[in-house]
Amino acid sequence: MSFEKLADMIFPEVNNSTEYYIEKYPKRNLKEGARVTRYAPSPTGFQHIGGVFAALINERLASQSEGVFYLRIEDTDQKREVEGAIDDTIATMHNFGMDFNEGMTGQETYKGEYGPYRQSQRAEIYNTFAKDLLKKGLAYPCFCTPEELAELREKQVANKITPGYYGEYAKFRNITEEEAIKRIENGEKYIIRLKSPGNPETRVEFHDLIKGDISFPENNQDIVLIKGDGLPTYHFAHAIDDFLMRTTDVIRGEEWLSSLPIHVQLFEVLGFEAPRYAHIPTIMKQDGGSKRKLSKRKDAEAAVSYYKEVGYPTVTVIEYLLNIINSTFEDWRAENPTADYHEFEIHLEKMSKSGALFDLVKLNDVSKDRIAAMKAKDVYEIYTAWAKEFDNEMYKLVTENEAMAKEIFNIDKEGPKPRKDYAKWDEVKEKVFYFFDELFDKETAEQIEMPKGLSLEDAKAVIEVYKNEFNFNAGSQEAWFEDLKEIGTRLGYCANRKEFKANPDQYKGMISDVAGAVRIALSHRTNTPDLYTIMQIMGEEKTRSRFEKFLKI
Ligand code: GLU
Repeated sequence: MSFEKLADMIFPEVNNSTEYYIEKYPKRNLKEGARVTRYAPSPTGFQHIGGVFAALINERLASQSEGVFYLRIEDTDQKREVEGAIDDTIATMHNFGMDFNEGMTGQETYKGEYGPYRQSQRAEIYNTFAKDLLKKGLAYPCFCTPEELAELREKQVANKITPGYYGEYAKFRNITEEEAIKRIENGEKYIIRLKSPGNPETRVEFHDLIKGDISFPENNQDIVLIKGDGLPTYHFAHAIDDFLMRTTDVIRGEEWLSSLPIHVQLFEVLGFEAPRYAHIPTIMKQDGGSKRKLSKRKDAEAAVSYYKEVGYPTVTVIEYLLNIINSTFEDWRAENPTADYHEFEIHLEKMSKSGALFDLVKLNDVSKDRIAAMKAKDVYEIYTAWAKEFDNEMYKLVTENEAMAKEIFNIDKEGPKPRKDYAKWDEVKEKVFYFFDELFDKETAEQIEMPKGLSLEDAKAVIEVYKNEFNFNAGSQEAWFEDLKEIGTRLGYCANRKEFKANPDQYKGMISDVAGAVRIALSHRTNTPDLYTIMQIMGEEKTRSRFEKFLKI
């Protein structure tokens, strides 16, 4: 059955042929093996870390193969749209080291020859293809009301029949042209459905680039192509856009895997060559004994904004995601400690088929390693930029004391085992606060950590003598320690562990207790970098003032 007249009635404004668009958007002239991939978010305003994960896979594969990575905005569900979401997506991706070769460049603007890249601006294209399917009898208008559809579904479920609008249950599947025209003239509301040629008895064999070989029954649902608001469904827009934009690889979340039978069929019905597909495992998190999806509601780390706020350097988040994409990244990083992550090639077939486990503890490890490997001046720059936005007090302190801040960030950096103090920038303050009088003086007595086995009184007695006798200019860590040992020994502390163990009653304690007293006086903490370094960074005046302050506690 063909619906020439009906097609003209439904789409009177469509004048172009489908060939017009197929020629307008020709196959791309790229080198052999180049991949065309895309990031295709809906502009809902919420950026999920899973989106960055998907975008990263797409971006890396396009870039590695000297292909094209483009941004398409899927805004056919206009109720969900949030203002500014496109700009925000572009900025976020840029922040994560991803720039688009093509596609939307702002709320309304785009670059590239395959646009528009925003689905709401492509109605004319979708309509052209829908009109063509109508004419060929491969689509039809459906006049069912939402109530009728709900009722149908209820009945099907009650009778244990596969629910949906298909075959004998598709009331308008065989509607005549005359009836359809009459109903439209009467002002009845309708949508356009695919007249599915599928038979669920037939199985389709398919190769997914991540999941491997899979098979599924052919689709026989008469899915919606054009909704009541005149815009296409995801399915229809996906087939048309990815064909006309000449996407070679559709790499998307595995929640779309169940729709694949529909998509494979749509490409066939439309006469398009289908792209390759890869379905990315959903990002999961360990929650007690079981795994579950990272949830926007329950997990702060589901939001991309979280990483910025708490201050993970973006490169560490990217590297962590690369770890999830291919677990070989970790070995590669160990072998190439200073290489740029862009040099690591990702491979879809090496990706885990089932789960992508997102683990903050592991992210912290990766992040500590990356920050430890950064130069102090880079740490300073990145930290300051973060603090400017998220911690005014620290921003002021580090920028007013730039030289000291850089020395702090440089502590033990050069050695074979650099310190791994911070995983994220919001941890810096607690680790370095004691260098700054403004923060140190705000400490309350409860915040002071006393070393085990050392009373405040004994510590004060040590400092009372040490402050007068210590040599600030010892010249080296070793000489400084000899000096401390000598003062400690005189005060009755033992410099030799064995000897102390043998005769504990003869000593007040060990030299480590003397060092503990100095540490607590300088920093109020028991776990710090080495004391000689701390004193050198603080300078003599501040060091002496700390001893005086300690005696007043
Ligand atoms: N707009 C779809 C989503 O956000 C895109 C899926 C795809 O990449 O095709 O889930």
